[in-house]
Amino acid sequence: MQLYNTLSAKEREALIEEAGKDRLTISFYKYAHIGNPQILRNHLFLTWNGMEVLGRIYVAHEGINAQLSVPADNFKVFKEHLDSISFLENVRLNIAIEQDNKSFLKLKVKVRNKIVADGLNDATFDVTNKGIHVGAEQFNELIEDENTVLVDMRNHYESEIGHFKNAVTPDVDTFRDSLDIIEQDLAEHKEDKKLVMYCTGGIRCEKASAYYKHKGFKNVYQLEGGIIEYTRQVREKQLENKFLGKNFVFDHRRGERISDEVIAHCHQCGKPCDTHVNCANEACHLLFIQCEECAEKMNNCCSVDCMEVHALPYEEQKRLRKGKGASNKIFKKGRSPVLKYKK
Ligand SMILES: [Zn+2]
Ligand SMILES: [Zn+2]
Repeated sequence: MQLYNTLSAKEREALIEEAGKDRLTISFYKYAHIGNPQILRNHLFLTWNGMEVLGRIYVAHEGINAQLSVPADNFKVFKEHLDSISFLENVRLNIAIEQDNKSFLKLKVKVRNKIVADGLNDATFDVTNKGIHVGAEQFNELIEDENTVLVDMRNHYESEIGHFKNAVTPDVDTFRDSLDIIEQDLAEHKEDKKLVMYCTGGIRCEKASAYYKHKGFKNVYQLEGGIIEYTRQVREKQLENKFLGKNFVFDHRRGERISDEVIAHCHQCGKPCDTHVNCANEACHLLFIQCEECAEKMNNCCSVDCMEVHALPYEEQKRLRKGKGASNKIFKKGRSPVLKYKK
């Protein structure tokens, strides 16, 4: 029984190209009590591998969080299979706006302690006592209310390239940090203000809204399905779009454009740009924003040091990396002293 990937990313890429079929990039999550995450993990891997599903999935006692690439032809059987798992029946699927057949090149299903690294001790509050879920239409009204404080629950490198207008965007590296900062900033307004929050697909707000209610906030709202579902509803119902820029996503695409505004800057020259890249030096892999000219000038690297390493023969690079721990920090926080415009 094959329970793990056998193809490399390159081999998979070739297969996808050869097949020439459309794939859908899909995400979903669900908090639920899962008795034996390992059994569920193996079941999902075996079934989805057979359907040529790819992606990154976390399974924990507290639930499941999945980002997937599903062949469009297999979507129906995929959905039927999901519906056959009692706690996933009719789970909301976020379908990406911009399709990319290579959003994921491997199927990785992992058992984790948590489905979102939140740094919280669950025993301290009731995660099911969540905020009020609102759709795009109600959200648009709420965020124009002068008694509303709109908070972006994502990290700095996500809100940097796109966010809702008038949103507070904490300059944080982790979810845990933003929980504390927002609580401090709004300590005086737990009862009089409406705390409205959003994130990419809604999962972080499930925890955050419960956390703030636990901390005494009286009026807590969260955007149902996050930016992804908001954008779908705005397009379907022809609503006014209040999101500026790009939605950062955790796959090969890195971001999907929601509006034409470019609100970020190249971290090397400072000119308007919102394209995230990873430093081409495998030992670095820093995630940062780089314009095309800088990419050319710097040979896709974040610094002169990285350019030098990247120019070495591959075997020499490997030798240098040896014993230095994980090199593949694809989503390493996008800050570095080497970046003139993002220290
Ligand atoms: Zn530049
Ligand atoms: Zn680098």
